[in-house]
Amino acid sequence: MTSAVVVAEPVRCVECGICSYNCPMGIDVRSKARQGLPVANGYCLTCGECVARCPRGTLRFETSDVFGFVFTPEGE
Ligand code: SF4
Ligand code: SF4
Repeated sequence: MTSAVVVAEPVRCVECGICSYNCPMGIDVRSKARQGLPVANGYCLTCGECVARCPRGTLRFETSDVFGFVFTPEGE
């Protein structure tokens, strides 16, 4: 069983806050992005709004298993 989680490339983040502003669940995506942490929030709908709205291409979805491990493609 797998699920998607939003992950960030922190060096690209300019802390504009557009991701957080557009999150329908009010999740502080900016804070996670800046720290390079996955948005491991139970309220995340994986709607993709934050990923789509980020002007810097900082955010993307990754697949994780039910235990929360994030698999990063080799070479990244
Ligand atoms: S929209 Fe992108 S650049 Fe702006 S705070 Fe969020 S992750 Fe960072
Ligand atoms: S995928 Fe949707 S619900 Fe999850 S953090 Fe991004 S905007 Fe918020």
